[in-house]
Amino acid sequence: MAKHILSIHAHPDDAETLAGGTLALLASLGHRVTIATMTAGDCGAIETSPEETTNIRKREAETAAAVIGAASACVGFPDLGIFNNDPSRRSVVEFIRSMKPDVILTSAPADYHPDHEATSLLVRDACFAVSVPNYHTGDARPLEEIPHLYFMDPIEQRDRSGSPVLADFTVNVESTIVTKRAMLTKHQSQSLWLQRQHGMADYIRQMEDWTRLRGERAGIAWGEGFRQYRGHPYPQEPLLQELLSSCVVNPK
Ligand SMILES: [Zn+2]
Repeated sequence: MAKHILSIHAHPDDAETLAGGTLALLASLGHRVTIATMTAGDCGAIETSPEETTNIRKREAETAAAVIGAASACVGFPDLGIFNNDPSRRSVVEFIRSMKPDVILTSAPADYHPDHEATSLLVRDACFAVSVPNYHTGDARPLEEIPHLYFMDPIEQRDRSGSPVLADFTVNVESTIVTKRAMLTKHQSQSLWLQRQHGMADYIRQMEDWTRLRGERAGIAWGEGFRQYRGHPYPQEPLLQELLSSCVVNPK
């Protein structure tokens, strides 16, 4: 039976960089995929205003998602303005309730960017609240169950102190690396920005280096790492691993 896979990362291009191959695999298996960002990426530009940048990057996100037939959505926070507080959690809960996902992929708890870390916390705790009837957020109805929750790799597969972040399991994305590259290429406004702010000469090559590194650690050519969040009372069954079956390497 087809599932709804909801990716919620902080900015446009994060999910494509860290999980684009896996999302492409899931879409090719007939699952419904939505790629959501917490912000529209309004600060990720040098020569355009926040409003112009928002419009450009929303279009890029939609075009990237369309490569695999996925939907695109934005929760509506501003860049560098994601904080783990009561109004933000209610917004994220309302968003997840409206999406009714079976599986959520989100950012790593420890990552280089404050928006990534705040997104991870907010999404983790929102998942607990989505099925709580008395937690009021808006028009969307409470969900019956907590979605299966997974963390993607952090950028560079390291935490802020430089220690490697290990994956529970790696998804072999050899069959979708070309699609992943095509998705990321749609975020073309980021080429100049990432050169200037991040010192990345070629953001596509950088993604390839990280995907190759995760693959090498699992003994395959191209990989994407994930960890399942299994805190009480979140779902314990390995639903994502079962959906991806033979593409999963090193399952715990
Ligand atoms: Zn980001």
